[in-house]
Amino acid sequence: MVEIRSVRKSFGSHEVLRGIDLEVRAGEVTVVLGPSGSGKSTLLRTVNHLEKVDSGRITVDGKLVGYRRSGDKLYELREREVLRQRTQIGFVFQNFHLFPHLTVLENITEAPVSALKRPRAGAVAAAHTLLERVGLAEKAGAYPGHLSGGQQQRVAIARALALEPKLLLFDEPTSALDPELVGEVLDVIKDLARQGTTMIVVTHEIGFAREVADTVVFMDEGVVVEQGPPAEVLDRPCQERTRAFLSKVL
Ligand code: ATP
Ligand code: MG
Repeated sequence: MVEIRSVRKSFGSHEVLRGIDLEVRAGEVTVVLGPSGSGKSTLLRTVNHLEKVDSGRITVDGKLVGYRRSGDKLYELREREVLRQRTQIGFVFQNFHLFPHLTVLENITEAPVSALKRPRAGAVAAAHTLLERVGLAEKAGAYPGHLSGGQQQRVAIARALALEPKLLLFDEPTSALDPELVGEVLDVIKDLARQGTTMIVVTHEIGFAREVADTVVFMDEGVVVEQGPPAEVLDRPCQERTRAFLSKVL
């Protein structure tokens, strides 16, 4: 479903991604771990073209991300095409990024109605179903500022789901939350995993990774140091760098 091949990305003279290869199969959950600055967010952002790669390529569901091929040349997609492609790749940020001036319901219906031109009534009905799914049926009319962080993040997940994405990307979805609110958000993500949603999740929640991940990827300094099933990478890491990192977060 997701193929990342030889991806490189620099900011100025700092090469942040130094040849990343990664595959995510449909219906599987990949958890990405690694120290601060190792390139996790940058990698996630390249997958929906929020960052352009310098070289290498990424395909999602067989489609090149951010480019189209013509003969043996690649052409960057136009902004409108990038936006359309992005509707199929949901992104959930650390800090929720809800629209503060819209209600919960409006946050969820905004993109389906304005980007996908869905009829409003259908989008509203779908939004109510999604709110039920994330346990917030009674908050449809509330504004984000009146919700807890955990509730806001669950709205952000419902908003991403409203576009029926093929792939969901999470960048540390619980690290801005008070500890007692982490569980409710992880429970929603676990539920999505059980339903076979394809996801890449950057997180330091090792227990979650152990329970939900099909593959755990450990990144350091812009490379994938080690990857495999959680029982291998978390319990019997081959690489010293992985062991050193895990001894700090476990
Ligand atoms: P964290 O765990 O702290 O979120 P991360 O693994 O997500 O870290 P990235 O955010 O991908 O790391 O950043 C990797 C490196 O790239 C860092 O050194 C960061 O300062 C740098 N970087 C990221 N985005 C930019 C940018 N837009 N311009 C310049 N440098 C950047
Ligand atoms: Mg990050």
